[in-house]
Amino acid sequence: MSTSARTRGEGPISPSGTPAIPVFLYHAVMDDPPDWIAEFTVTPRQFAAHLDAIACSGRTPVTISAIADHLAGRAPLPPRPVLLTFDDGFADLPGPTAETLAGRGLPATAYLTTGAITPGGRSLLPPAPMMALDRAAELERSGMEIGSHTVTHAQLDTLSGKDLAYELRTSKAVLEDALGHEVRHLAYPHGYNSPRVRAMSARAGYETATAVRHALSSDHDERYRIARLIVRRTHTVADVQGWLAGAGARVAPYRDGPKTIAWRWYRRARAVVHGPEFAG
Ligand SMILES: [Zn+2]
Repeated sequence: MSTSARTRGEGPISPSGTPAIPVFLYHAVMDDPPDWIAEFTVTPRQFAAHLDAIACSGRTPVTISAIADHLAGRAPLPPRPVLLTFDDGFADLPGPTAETLAGRGLPATAYLTTGAITPGGRSLLPPAPMMALDRAAELERSGMEIGSHTVTHAQLDTLSGKDLAYELRTSKAVLEDALGHEVRHLAYPHGYNSPRVRAMSARAGYETATAVRHALSSDHDERYRIARLIVRRTHTVADVQGWLAGAGARVAPYRDGPKTIAWRWYRRARAVVHGPEFAG
């Protein structure tokens, strides 16, 4: 940490001088997840240890709206923010996970795949215990902000314009009906996005979108691809502590590397041949 960062009280900064903001991406928090999501599932015990690490870090948990307000110049961020985000809408979310967070007074952000949580709905997610859409309002009352994670969990950067508009607009409308207010935040399934996906997300009325990038975000990250860190079951508390200290990962924004771009073209070509599929 540089002297100037210490005097400003903003915490760890990257070599480029950007205050790092960890945005954690959780999926399910449970002891016995289905195999396909096990790698991205933490146990309630691991989760509690991560929350202890956050409490010890002196960081202030905020929701995605606080980042949006900051990026739009409406309100400053508290010093040393951290975000907890939960994707897909697994069954534990409105139950033990929300209770644990509320018990500690921690706000969080949940990005829900509407097709996977609506009775009779359709999504590309393999079978798993999921929450129900009618509990979204309850989640919000417990201190969680709700964002969209599309309808079917499609790889957005492989879709036609029509399908992309459907994923972005229908999930937003379904959540807005359930919550009774506007939903302004999106998380890209698998983090996949492209300049076109980002532009369409803005046009569909989203104010921010989170990606993955396996990087720390920062106070001048890109509004339509905010970097997140996927938390895997193999990550240790020391890994989490490292990220909280602003270390152990790159700090966004930075440009896509050639590998990311090549992988996008490969997935697009595959989608033409195989149609939409879960990217695992
Ligand atoms: Zn997801």
